[in-house]
Amino acid sequence: MPIGEKAEILDVAVIGGGPAGLMAAETVAKAGKSVAVFEKMPTFGRKFLMAGRGGLNLTHSEDFERFVARYGDRAARLAPMLEAFAPKDLTAWAEGLGQRTFVGASGRVFPTAMKASPLLRAWLARLEGLGVALRPRATWKGWDAAGRLVIETPDGRHVIRARATVLALGGASWPKLGSDAAWAPLLRVGGSEIAPFRPANCGFDVAWSAVFRDRFAGEPLKNVSLSLGSARARGDAMVARYGLEGGAVYALGGAARDAALAGGAVLTVDLRPDIPVETLERRLRAPRGGHSLANFLRKAVKLSPVEVNLLREAHGLDLPSEPAALAAAIKAAPLALTGVQSLERAISSAGGVRFESLDGLALKARPDVILAGEMLDWEAPTGGYLLQACFATGAAAGRAALGRLG
Ligand SMILES: Cc1cc2nc3c(=O)[nH]c(=O)nc-3n(C[C@H](O)[C@H](O)[C@H](O)COP(=O)(O)OP(=O)(O)OC[C@H]3O[C@@H](n4cnc5c(N)ncnc54)[C@H](O)[C@@H]3O)c2cc1C
Repeated sequence: MPIGEKAEILDVAVIGGGPAGLMAAETVAKAGKSVAVFEKMPTFGRKFLMAGRGGLNLTHSEDFERFVARYGDRAARLAPMLEAFAPKDLTAWAEGLGQRTFVGASGRVFPTAMKASPLLRAWLARLEGLGVALRPRATWKGWDAAGRLVIETPDGRHVIRARATVLALGGASWPKLGSDAAWAPLLRVGGSEIAPFRPANCGFDVAWSAVFRDRFAGEPLKNVSLSLGSARARGDAMVARYGLEGGAVYALGGAARDAALAGGAVLTVDLRPDIPVETLERRLRAPRGGHSLANFLRKAVKLSPVEVNLLREAHGLDLPSEPAALAAAIKAAPLALTGVQSLERAISSAGGVRFESLDGLALKARPDVILAGEMLDWEAPTGGYLLQACFATGAAAGRAALGRLG
């Protein structure tokens, strides 16, 4: 049936067909209430499918206290929702949709299919079975003078009446997948405060030499320690043509990103974090024989070609030959950052509707409008924390909408 043709009022309109919106819709539909999901793209869950390309890290298995701490200064706001829909609930939910899951070596939780499409297919079928009206190519354009939702489709403009509305419009990264934050002016007009969007979980720009870039882009730096200001992270990084990316870079978090954005920041790489500097120095005192420096470093401390050349990028072509200085250079290679990757390429975004503009998840300015997902002003590293918070706030938004219906 075309949008708006039904005479009756919807119990709940959900705008945005990503993980947060679909979870809100499932929560409402299970309570027997009428709900429709309006999604501006031709299909649902495009960013979720993109997340599936990296294996779909659904959540994390670490203990709850540690888990919640990943949300930094938003942890207290999110904790009750994460408790009500916890990592174990998300895993059980995925399994309920026929997707077995496993815990990877780092504690991250993935579906065994390592992709999102079977999960999303089963989920959309479940939602349709529950009577959820799924409306693709339907863009929310704000409210009309009577406070009704204005929805634009290829057939024209429609007005929708709903007792409660869940907005789950996503953040501002990868805008071509649908979440482009074009909604921000619509909410600002209503008096809500929106923290500026910034890239999160994004690569850092480094001005590599052309030789290093051409030879080593795509090469991993395994088990390194990164530090920037007071932020520290351990794990793997990857050399990219533009700079550095990967889990350890993203784990440095928002403060490091903001420092890199401000310019003049220096990232320090410890290539051998498990080996004390004295041990390195001792190994580097071994006779060098006729070996080139690169060969000697490979033999003495097992530095790979990308690591040796990264030292040259950081310290200059003439690396020190004295063992103590060479050991110190391996423990602290400074890379001048020239910026961060743009929102177009960032995995997620920081910024969004500030919690101060909300009462629970409802807009203070319009208590019948409830928000969920990445459009809210929180950020977290990769590791399943993003999707977990989107699902948990989606479920909470669904419960809040039901509360609104009385
Ligand atoms: C490359 C990549 C890999 C990722 N990998 C992971 C991972 O492994 N683990 C993890 O936890 N997270 C991952 N994420 C992040 C995760 O996918 C997002 O945090 C999550 O999808 C956000 O969910 P959401 O429902 O809030 O918003 P979205 O998924 O962005 O959905 C919002 C929806 O709202 C729609 N919309 C926007 N405006 C309107 C409008 N006016 N009218 C109608 N519809 C509208 C959009 O089209 C979109 O479909 C990844 C992201 C990317 C880009």
